[in-house]
Amino acid sequence: MLKVGQVERTEITGYSSEGMGICRIDGCAVFVPNAIRGELCEIKVTHVSRNSAHGKIEQIIERSPHRITRTCPDAKRCGGCQLHHMDYAEELAFKAQKVTDALNRIGSQNIPLVKITGADGTVSTQGAESELQKEGAPAAAFAYRNKAQYPVAEQEGKPVAGFYKNRTHEVIPVKRCAILPEIFDRVRDVVVRWAAEDRVSVYNEHSGKGLLRHIYVRKGTISGQLMVCLVVNGKTLPREQRLVNTLRREIPGLASVVLSVNTKNTNVVLGEEIRTLWGEPFIEDQLCGFTFRLSPHSFYQVNHDQAQRLYAKAVELAALHGTETVLDLYCGTGTITLALSREAGRAIGVEVIPQAIEDAKENALRNGVQNVEFFCADAGEAAQRFASQASGIGDQAFGDEKAVTGHLSPVTAHGSSPDVILVDPPRKGLAPEVIDAVVTMAPKRVVYVSCDPATLARDVKLFSERGYSLSHAEAFDLFPRTFHVETVVQLVRKNPDMAVCVTVNLEDADLTAAESKATYEQIKDYALNTYGFQVTSLQIAQTKRKLGLPTGDHYNLSQKENQVIPQCPPEKENAIREALRHFRMLN
Ligand code: SAH
Repeated sequence: MLKVGQVERTEITGYSSEGMGICRIDGCAVFVPNAIRGELCEIKVTHVSRNSAHGKIEQIIERSPHRITRTCPDAKRCGGCQLHHMDYAEELAFKAQKVTDALNRIGSQNIPLVKITGADGTVSTQGAESELQKEGAPAAAFAYRNKAQYPVAEQEGKPVAGFYKNRTHEVIPVKRCAILPEIFDRVRDVVVRWAAEDRVSVYNEHSGKGLLRHIYVRKGTISGQLMVCLVVNGKTLPREQRLVNTLRREIPGLASVVLSVNTKNTNVVLGEEIRTLWGEPFIEDQLCGFTFRLSPHSFYQVNHDQAQRLYAKAVELAALHGTETVLDLYCGTGTITLALSREAGRAIGVEVIPQAIEDAKENALRNGVQNVEFFCADAGEAAQRFASQASGIGDQAFGDEKAVTGHLSPVTAHGSSPDVILVDPPRKGLAPEVIDAVVTMAPKRVVYVSCDPATLARDVKLFSERGYSLSHAEAFDLFPRTFHVETVVQLVRKNPDMAVCVTVNLEDADLTAAESKATYEQIKDYALNTYGFQVTSLQIAQTKRKLGLPTGDHYNLSQKENQVIPQCPPEKENAIREALRHFRMLN
């Protein structure tokens, strides 16, 4: 039985998913921070629980050739980066192994070591042995982040800003963060100096008093535009103008200064209300050949160059030929959706944050992309609604061919069912209902982009039990020097010849309202049966919009510039109004 304080000489044989070295003492796995695979160490046991234990290095007897001097002197205290003590080649080897192990152990797969794309775009298949070893880490593994959130605290009567110490809310005022651009630290220093000089109070999460909570900085990697957002426990700042003037004078590229009002006792950094102090309430950046508008709330990958490489691979794995319908669940501001739209007939994005969807729609318009539609909805609910369009297709989606009647049309005839579904969920992965709905829609391929190999692997297992097999897996290092890694996998339907008739009918899904209502098809039928003439979807949408009723928003995007849109003739509008009354959608 292991005891706290016990010291043993042992070899580090591998890594935990969080990049800690693992060794075995008395048959028990011991996790050791800052230890490198292959090292022989004296380990002191610091903590013992039922299944595992933690230890720390007392002495390194045999040093790994991959051990390097840390670039960041604060790394150990800060805890934001866990891998500064190893060279980049070893970091990539660890990450490739982490992804492979997760897919094999949790996902019940049997795949060889995955490829990993390193920070500078180099693809490595063998992990450690590369040029990088000599240099420690390439420049691209530093200063790569385009966003920072510095918590502010008061220490010795003065405001300080830095990072939380691992698993605490103690602020470590890191002088220079190696993975952030230098300009971010400069912004932080300007704001802290202003706060000290103008005696701006600092938020205390215990008492709920004080103003300044976080300094949030975001930069467009290509545009160079910089946003400074102060998160405050209140609505105004003292001497706002002086802060704006100082920032304008000292920060090149400044494009936006905003205030985020957050008066809640919460760990969520941003409040809902955003007020512009200077410039625009957003910045822009270019990614994958498109220009994106970024608000403080919208998700945008923190590593621009690597995100481009990851998305290019995701698009490649979608394997589109210009005609297909592709559904992008968890689309954020539509980054991947737009990238997919180039190769698809139609791309549909779904995202839960309204501001992100507004940005996504704006992004599509500004880039002149007309074959995309965006919906603000929970991905699970949206997927279930899309899937439920396939009446009669239940669990046996792969079992037998179904003839679908009514407005549901075969996959190939209209090309409107999702041929490919891409998902890019947050760390917790997909809820089982989402997987069910995706499987019910029976796309030929599912491309899954993930920031957590463990939840990805769990979901891959579920997909493989539901008729999909893992055909490709590859890792991308978007977060050098930390244990985080992105993965993209491709899952293909095992029986591709099976025609499953599922049509995503966005008009009928009408995600803009939750209550049950008549479908566009029912309104059309009603008009035909009652008035003897046909009405079109556009006419229904026009009438609904006129009456202030929610419509499928995609009509807004399908309008070409300068296109003359025929207005709904009065008799047809009447018929539609009558139909809406009949279905109790109008009083
Ligand atoms: N694909 C985008 C965003 C990925 S991040 C990109 O690469 O830029 C994951 C996104 O999922 C975030 O924008 C988050 O707001 C969104 N999200 C989280 N939970 C969701 C849910 N239940 N339904 C829909 N979107 C959700």
